[in-house]
Amino acid sequence: MKKYVCIACKNNFSENSMFTINQNIGVVHCNKCQSSFLSFPENPDTGLEEGKFDEYWDEVNQKIYSSDGVVRELTEKYKKYFSKVKGREPRNNLLDVGSGFGISVNSARKLGFEAEGIEPSKSAVEFSSKKFGIKVTQGLLENDTFKSLFGVVSSWDVIEHVLDPEEFVKNCNRHLEMGGWIILETPDEGAFIRKLVITLAKISKGILDYRSKMYYKEHRFYFSRDGIRMLLERNGFKNVRFFKEGSMIEKEILKNKLYSHASGLRLFMIRTVFTIIKHVPAASNKMIIIAEKDHEG
Ligand SMILES: [Zn+2]
Repeated sequence: MKKYVCIACKNNFSENSMFTINQNIGVVHCNKCQSSFLSFPENPDTGLEEGKFDEYWDEVNQKIYSSDGVVRELTEKYKKYFSKVKGREPRNNLLDVGSGFGISVNSARKLGFEAEGIEPSKSAVEFSSKKFGIKVTQGLLENDTFKSLFGVVSSWDVIEHVLDPEEFVKNCNRHLEMGGWIILETPDEGAFIRKLVITLAKISKGILDYRSKMYYKEHRFYFSRDGIRMLLERNGFKNVRFFKEGSMIEKEILKNKLYSHASGLRLFMIRTVFTIIKHVPAASNKMIIIAEKDHEG
């Protein structure tokens, strides 16, 4: 049996019957906080190598994130959560980590924040600076990237990709003013829909096994609420709150149109299914986490 330490709650556990994706990548599940993470063989292709960031922000994705529908939908989401901390921040400035095409930074700016981003992809930095005229630094957030502190640090769909989530949370904390807010979005391992897929695979003894559609190698960490709360509390945060969030309809449709060349009928079906999902809280698969900086991480 192999031994593991849970990256979220620090629980020591061992696992023998591991579910694997891509033949050699294991999905390890913590029996204490119920978070999952991927266990890679030696020298894994982590998706974090040089040049990989530009691969994600390619031309098709540029088209997706330039479409009015997608920009509108994402702006609405970002504004909804930025509004929850607006007026309660110790400083009016906001840093978005992994700012991609800049929609989040632009949304924060629309709410009156003095917002800027940091993003490793050169093409995404160029695209977002040109499209929105926003300030974006190219690179990864280190412990001393910025000299000044921020009132809010946000990061959407990033923490599940990083090599070390603990270091990532520490670096967010170091860039926050005391009493400042962290806002994160990530898949919710405890979401009903994910539990359903896991249960279905188990009770059908693998006949109805759709787990490989839920875990992919680019996402190394799948936090439960308990898991990410413990990670944040251990690194200087308090008052951790959670909100359910589903998939983005317009983004999903354009992705299917441009990457898979889906037919009109299929797009109509996708729209119908995702509209239903959006209005059924039990079908949401992501969580937004908001927490307050209490002490240095
Ligand atoms: Zn755990």
